[in-house]
Amino acid sequence: MDTPPPLEDQPAWRDALEQRAADTRRALDEGTEGDVTLDQTRVGRLSRMDALASQALAQAAQRRRGGTLKALEAALARLESGQFGYCLSCDEPIALARLWHNPAVTLCLSCAAEAER
Ligand SMILES: [Zn+2]
Repeated sequence: MDTPPPLEDQPAWRDALEQRAADTRRALDEGTEGDVTLDQTRVGRLSRMDALASQALAQAAQRRRGGTLKALEAALARLESGQFGYCLSCDEPIALARLWHNPAVTLCLSCAAEAER
């Protein structure tokens, strides 16, 4: 997790993507189980409002993980079709350090900054 492999090293990128997808899937599974445990052990001393608030937080976290998983799967599909690592907006290569930090990114730094404006 220190130095990014060159973009041509597809197996290394596939490993990184699949590893993250597996971690995210595991977190999704554990998150669902965690909700049940929370309800059973803590609902007694939490007010209904607190219980609803923590449930909403857990659901938001699950939605985020679901989105992350979709983004990782889309990145794997781009890897198969040879488009991985290139900005979806301007077609320039995405900086490797940026990609290594989050292989699911689809935009280069300048297009991402543009999109946030
Ligand atoms: Zn771009």
